[in-house]
Amino acid sequence: MVNKLFLIDGVRKFLLYLIARMLISFFTLIVGLLRHQYNKGIKKKGVYQMERTLVIIKPDGVRRHLIGRIIQRFEEKGLAITEMKFATMTKELAQEHYHHLSGRSFFDELIDYMTSGPVVYLVLAGEDVIDIVRKMVGATKAVDAVPGTIRGDYALPGTENIIHASDSRDAATNEINRFFPLFDTKKQKSEIVHPE
Ligand code: UDP
Ligand code: MG
Repeated sequence: MVNKLFLIDGVRKFLLYLIARMLISFFTLIVGLLRHQYNKGIKKKGVYQMERTLVIIKPDGVRRHLIGRIIQRFEEKGLAITEMKFATMTKELAQEHYHHLSGRSFFDELIDYMTSGPVVYLVLAGEDVIDIVRKMVGATKAVDAVPGTIRGDYALPGTENIIHASDSRDAATNEINRFFPLFDTKKQKSEIVHPE
């Protein structure tokens, strides 16, 4: 009799356990489905693709008075400018920015060029902004840069090619952090050069 009671109690506990597990699985499934629908909605609205990219109007772009025309292109396109800074790049930052090209024959010339005068740093934001801006900038070499692109319209053969733009999400994140260090105001101050 006692054994039977224990058995019934055990079965009841087991059934309760099963029901609890089923309820947990059911709620997990519902939460998963809701999250999926929510994410799909956000994707549709473009929130997921919202990106930021770093643009640098290089020293030759500044010297040739192209700042306004270049910024106008981005504004006319409808891209949002979220940060802007006018400063001369330090040698250290230029070397860090182009560290992946450090073995190349043109590296020293590139560093001299990038530090030869003030540049304009811009952060642009928008859906797919990284690829859009790269397309607006055009190919690295003047000979390959299609007319209608910034380099296609303004650059001639050589290292000087008017403008830089991040080429991937990782690069954009690193470059924005490099040139707009949120809390490192000392670093920013040492870069600032006032126009004559
Ligand atoms: N560069 C150069 N010679 C080359 C390739 C690049 O002088 O054969 C310079 C040029 O100023 C270029 C920069 O190095 O913009 C960085 O090169 P990258 O290949 O990253 O081109 P980008 O991303 O600027 O189009
Ligand atoms: Mg590059």
